[in-house]
Amino acid sequence: MTPRTLVLSSIDRYLASGADLLEGLNAEVCERDSRLLRFPYTVMLEVAYPELDFINRWCWRHFGPLDGECTQKCSEYRACADETPHHHAGRWTSYWFAKTDYDFGFNEWYFSEKTDRDLLLANLPEMNWGEHYPK
Ligand SMILES: [Zn+2]
Repeated sequence: MTPRTLVLSSIDRYLASGADLLEGLNAEVCERDSRLLRFPYTVMLEVAYPELDFINRWCWRHFGPLDGECTQKCSEYRACADETPHHHAGRWTSYWFAKTDYDFGFNEWYFSEKTDRDLLLANLPEMNWGEHYPK
């Protein structure tokens, strides 16, 4: 089996974890509120880095480019080959909140369409560390 460590989570669970205090970033909650204005439908997961990259690639394939600064250059499962600093406009985005363990932590996905959010939720059982981590 390909490794799978992700856990469905929530902003409340993130806040209760104290990870925001460790990172010293309470402003994050304000930034999140402004993201929610454009992307009101969310999925918070606790994930390992490879799962984060795997899910982002899945979202690119299903929903098009991530909205905002493109960080695909650093992804294990790249969906964008552009090496230069750039942005995309799109109907979803992704935000890393904080590490809670070695290469593991809270990441939230945001969608402008409820159907997109629901499609990711429905496909969570298919999300894992991906083909770079065979059994
Ligand atoms: Zn890009």
